[in-house]
Amino acid sequence: MTSYIKKIVILGGGSAGWMTAAALSSQLDPKFVSITLVESDQIGTIGVGEATIPEIINFNRHLGIREDEFMKATHATFKLGIEFVDWGRKGDAYIHPFGGHGVDMNGYEFHQYWLRSRADGNTHPIDAYSMSAVASRQNRFDLPGTTNSPRGHIRYAYHFDATLYARFLRTYAEARGVRRVEGKVEEVLQAPESGDITALRLDTGETINGELFFDCTGFSALLIGKTLGVGYNDWSHWLPCDTAQAVPCAHAGPLLPYTRSTARTAGWQWRIPTQTRTGNGHIYSSAFMEDDEATAILLANLDGEAMASPRQIRFKAGHRHAFWKKNCVAIGLSAGFLEPLESTSIYLIQEGISRFIALFPDASLPEVVRKEYNQHMQTEFEQVRDFIILHYSATERDDTPFWNYCRNMSIPDSLNHKIELFRTAGRTYAYREELFGRPSWIAVFLGQGIMPRSFDPVIAMLPSDAVRDSLDSMRQAMHAEAGRMPTHAAFLQSYCPAVRA
Ligand SMILES: Cc1cc2nc3c(=O)[nH]c(=O)nc-3n(C[C@H](O)[C@H](O)[C@H](O)COP(=O)(O)OP(=O)(O)OC[C@H]3O[C@@H](n4cnc5c(N)ncnc54)[C@H](O)[C@@H]3O)c2cc1C
Repeated sequence: MTSYIKKIVILGGGSAGWMTAAALSSQLDPKFVSITLVESDQIGTIGVGEATIPEIINFNRHLGIREDEFMKATHATFKLGIEFVDWGRKGDAYIHPFGGHGVDMNGYEFHQYWLRSRADGNTHPIDAYSMSAVASRQNRFDLPGTTNSPRGHIRYAYHFDATLYARFLRTYAEARGVRRVEGKVEEVLQAPESGDITALRLDTGETINGELFFDCTGFSALLIGKTLGVGYNDWSHWLPCDTAQAVPCAHAGPLLPYTRSTARTAGWQWRIPTQTRTGNGHIYSSAFMEDDEATAILLANLDGEAMASPRQIRFKAGHRHAFWKKNCVAIGLSAGFLEPLESTSIYLIQEGISRFIALFPDASLPEVVRKEYNQHMQTEFEQVRDFIILHYSATERDDTPFWNYCRNMSIPDSLNHKIELFRTAGRTYAYREELFGRPSWIAVFLGQGIMPRSFDPVIAMLPSDAVRDSLDSMRQAMHAEAGRMPTHAAFLQSYCPAVRA
């Protein structure tokens, strides 16, 4: 008879730990499976990670969480995309919006029409045809609803306080039977023959036994790395940024419904507005910039008064050689890290959990299931990696040694293929349920200045004025629709005002 896992232990109570606990507790009956989460207040959490992508809506929905309640509790704002400033060239700005550009017509992709109109003299950038980008530029927001109007094209995510999100999910998980244990793990016990983890010994003297362990210990990777010895696939030759300095500041000016990423001398700076503060961080390569200079750049470019001293975090881009080894699954920073340029870490946590649940093993933890999981997560990391590298490699900037390095570095073949395909005739395909679909690649290709040499020959044969009129009416309809939406701040105030402690 099949035997089922009865004791699950999650080590770590950051976003990864509590997202795992919440998702598992929503699926498993505590009468049959016990879930214990161990965390240490003394060690604390990383305390950053404020921007998300639309997939988080599905995560919360699966848990049955009400959007307005979650937003109030986490001081969330809406995010319609990311504005990239100074990336392709100094002085440039483009938006990578959520949702597509325009409307595909007669079976042909919208951007092919846009390329044609551009050849005929259209000077509007492609983001003038994205409902999310147009609303961003007007600082407006409304839920897409179910209408056929251009508003229905909006896709969105959130900016929030990640510490409050973990707290919110803790309440959710504890209400569904998850037991939280406070304590610092001092020893990890393993079965002598198999090497499987059997228990965690805490500084409080308590021992926590389990059959399956989730390593959510952040960068320390206590179980997957230090205990099981799983190595790290280092991608820093493609993603040379290795340091972050983060600092919140007071709001100044309107509450924008998008993240801003501004390229700096040796990296970039984020600006993420929640309802109660603006999160800021400077990500840079320590090979190209001293820490003191990075701090000075960060502090000189805040919208409002700093609310704390900058906190420095070192990291290495890449992932574990295996995400699941023996009876241990790594979720979160212990599994790997790609800089937050496209806000993908929380998504990768979510994907790790949902793929695990989709493959939920019996107590024998079959090798083939682990293999499938590891292959899937590796593909996810590689696809996100390529998309992030694109922002660096497709730059025309030659004003600093860092940008010269990025412009000239070799890139993965998988990315090179995509760039060449697009450059040739504006073709782009998403493979294997890729996270970033066609609209995202198009937004960044064009935004970074990669312009196709030609476009679809069928579109080339269309009458010029018909193409122009279609595009004009789309652009004008979106512009007018955005003007009818409430401002972002007004919408938040009526829908989900922050509940302050
Ligand atoms: C600079 C930066 C910016 C980021 N920005 C974004 C963003 O905008 N969007 C996004 O999606 N993601 C972002 N991330 C990633 C995001 O912060 C993390 O993916 C997320 O917070 C998950 O962290 P974690 O739970 O894996 O680790 P942590 O938050 O570090 O939690 C680790 C947990 O393990 C516990 N622990 C560790 N060792 C022990 C021990 N010995 N005994 C007991 N407990 C232990 C700690 O107490 C803690 O509870 C960013 C990351 C960085 C570094």
